[in-house]
Amino acid sequence: MALKTPTEDLIVLRGVRKSYQQPNGQQIVILENINLELRPGEIVALLGPSGSGKSTLMRIIAGLIPASQGEVIYHNHPLVGLNPGVAIVFQSFALYPWLTVLENVELGLKAKGEPPDPRRQKALRMIDIIGLDGFENAYPKELSGGMRQRVGFARALAVEPELLCMDEPFSALDVLTAENLRFELLDLWLERRIPTKAILIVTHGIEEAVILADRIIVLGRNPGRVRADLSVTLPHYRDRKHPSFQALVDQVYTIITNPDLETIEAAAPVSPQQPKPEPKYQSLPAVRIGSIAGLLELLEDRQEKDLYRLAQELQLEVDDILPIVEAAKLMDFVELAQGDISLTPVGLQFIAGSIDDRKQLVRSQLLANIRLVQQIHRLLQAKNNQRIPEELVLDILESHFSPQEAERQLKTAIDWGRYAEIYSYDEPSGQIFLEQAVSVEPLIVS
Ligand code: ADP
Ligand code: MG
Repeated sequence: MALKTPTEDLIVLRGVRKSYQQPNGQQIVILENINLELRPGEIVALLGPSGSGKSTLMRIIAGLIPASQGEVIYHNHPLVGLNPGVAIVFQSFALYPWLTVLENVELGLKAKGEPPDPRRQKALRMIDIIGLDGFENAYPKELSGGMRQRVGFARALAVEPELLCMDEPFSALDVLTAENLRFELLDLWLERRIPTKAILIVTHGIEEAVILADRIIVLGRNPGRVRADLSVTLPHYRDRKHPSFQALVDQVYTIITNPDLETIEAAAPVSPQQPKPEPKYQSLPAVRIGSIAGLLELLEDRQEKDLYRLAQELQLEVDDILPIVEAAKLMDFVELAQGDISLTPVGLQFIAGSIDDRKQLVRSQLLANIRLVQQIHRLLQAKNNQRIPEELVLDILESHFSPQEAERQLKTAIDWGRYAEIYSYDEPSGQIFLEQAVSVEPLIVS
């Protein structure tokens, strides 16, 4: 339930696109055609797997980086430069170690040109509200992680932002500290003790989103785009065990685990000047074959087919299990339906097989389904010496991914292909080659 919903939007995004130019001149698209409104009175969670552009989108809203196309409208005017209505809390706290708690909290106010006296008053008041009393003169290194993040909150809130933006603010904290801070923040918000009109929280935790948010915006990856915009009407404080809570978590889980599901809410029409989205290049989750095998073994033994409850049972975070599930799905070892995961006939065959059978299966699944492995294999076959430098593959990948992601994609494809003995890799020279190519000429014994 939102606090109050006056009609005027706080911030509106229209057709926002973000791309980066690669060193080789190629554009990689990080965010595509993002349209959304942030309204006063609501906590909005921006939820998505890592790399889906959540932080980038938040930075665009805050005016820290510009959109490549489209606009951010703040109080009916296109935003240029920093957004004066936004303050940010970072995952890493981002405190100045040489400044005291009070001085750190005063920073934002100072930057806004607030004179020393009221500045100190406001900072002290926020320190009080946020539970940092008695630590005004401490330095960050004297504080626990939870207390440091309180400083992060106090500094952001002291400037009385209209929109409080938080980028995974609890994920560097231990579980209990995180839960405590989450609820304290919720208290402050529900009791209207903090002077902010809306909160945007970036998270990869489904439960965190469902606990806090009035609206959950699910971002998809490659390129980042809005896949769902869900209202959460459960009253605060929400009970994780309540069937409605679990149902909503399941719903979000289903969306996230089905990258192919269409966007739940119709997106605004693509503006004419917007280039057509390029067809997606298949993106490989960075997981080892061993983890995929582990997941399949586990599925064989479990009654529990609900992916979310399975993750809970294994005490795994979404971000840990999803890439493994995604990889298993790419290889057609599992299928997903309504948040339930099950082994396919090929998956069952894998489980039943010997080590050699498994290698064979992975080999045929990779060659049938994984585009990068296919491409490398074809390149190798086309070469007389059946060797290619990894740079060649990186060049191809860098037209679709950032250099860092391209490296990761390559590493994964090498790892998988090596396991299946499709090709081999020589680390020192950075060459990929077909096994036969290295086999030494038979020794002629005379
Ligand atoms: P999230 O916060 O959802 O994990 P990010 O917004 O941090 O995602 O990043 C989304 C994608 O954009 C990633 O693939 C990342 O490598 C890429 N990216 C972010 N910043 C830059 C940049 N300055 N140049 C090139 N690529 C970038
Ligand atoms: Mg991020």
